[in-house]
Amino acid sequence: MTPLTVDKLPSLDKAALFFDIDGTLAPIAAHASQVYIDESMLTTIRLLHRATEGALAVLSGRPIEQIDRLFSPYKYPAAAEHGALVRDPDGVTHTESHLAAHLDQIYRRALDAVRLMPGVHVEQKHHGVALHYRQAPRYERAVIQVANTLVALAPGIEATRGKMVVELKSATVNKGVAMQSLLSHAPFHDRIPVVFGDDMSDEPAFMQANRLNGLSISIETQASCAQHYVPRQHGLEQLLSDWLCGQAS
Ligand SMILES: [Mg+2]
Repeated sequence: MTPLTVDKLPSLDKAALFFDIDGTLAPIAAHASQVYIDESMLTTIRLLHRATEGALAVLSGRPIEQIDRLFSPYKYPAAAEHGALVRDPDGVTHTESHLAAHLDQIYRRALDAVRLMPGVHVEQKHHGVALHYRQAPRYERAVIQVANTLVALAPGIEATRGKMVVELKSATVNKGVAMQSLLSHAPFHDRIPVVFGDDMSDEPAFMQANRLNGLSISIETQASCAQHYVPRQHGLEQLLSDWLCGQAS
């Protein structure tokens, strides 16, 4: 990975932008409900959306209503829950996951399995279940074990690890597939994908961007298939502002 500088970025009228939220646009908080995106970053995103003529999407593990709350009042094209639900640029949503029939059972079994692990939080999403252990990192191994057991409850489920979280979701769903789906629509079509993320769940989107001769940018310097990195949110925001300013001149 090499540091990203603004001269490596394509012109905004040729770029399609994809942003993760947690750890990328917003700092990680003790609890997912405490996360917010800085006002200045929100403004930058809005200006980038305009400068790309709408070719800007959010790729997140969060449910769609949480994404919309964080960007309120704007509703950007998005892949929610790692791509289990995709909202196209025209606002139409479609679901790519088929776990719904098993979700209640997985959720109940997960709650039961962690009842003696104080601080572990089980989140029921529309298309998956997340086991958060940020407030109880000592249970990491136990939580991973629980997730691996729950995978057997229905066909086509996988357990994927993120930062202090293990998610149970449809194995066919990931941010790379969701990004490809968004790229088939105008105004994303025929543009150079530029992906920003920070976590293991962003790797499929990084790989997809690399395959399409786009850019993959991590907000971390850890092992990743991202081509470039930027240091933390402050570095990212500075870079995005410079990118916008370059277009205006
Ligand atoms: Mg993230």
